[in-house]
Amino acid sequence: MKRLGDQVQAADWKSEKHAPVIECPDRVVGDAPFQIAASVGKEIAHPNTAEHHIAWIQLYFQPDGEKFTQQLASSEFVAHGASAKGAGEGPALTQPAITATVSLKRSGTIHALSYCNIHGLWESVKEITVG
Ligand code: FE
Repeated sequence: MKRLGDQVQAADWKSEKHAPVIECPDRVVGDAPFQIAASVGKEIAHPNTAEHHIAWIQLYFQPDGEKFTQQLASSEFVAHGASAKGAGEGPALTQPAITATVSLKRSGTIHALSYCNIHGLWESVKEITVG
């Protein structure tokens, strides 16, 4: 039986337009707020149309040595050019980018998960050291 986790694709964001880019410090001070940004399309643009778009990005934290994953933030991207005048004629586009302000007590791994309405789930990871 295939599990959902088996369906999540991973790739280098420099060569695969679906893979989210995670931008945050490599090292932070414990309990001090810092920003984590994640976006899709930094190197290779992804389509942003009613028919084909990035619908959401979620951020997770896996603390080193712990069993359970923490969700940090979630952002849904809703405007993709839809309009009563026709697809692509709408006045607004939401770009697939999220920024969260976070503080951590221990080192671990940041996971960014993105969802393309056609090409499914994509993940990137970045290790972060506290201390
Ligand atoms: Fe796609």
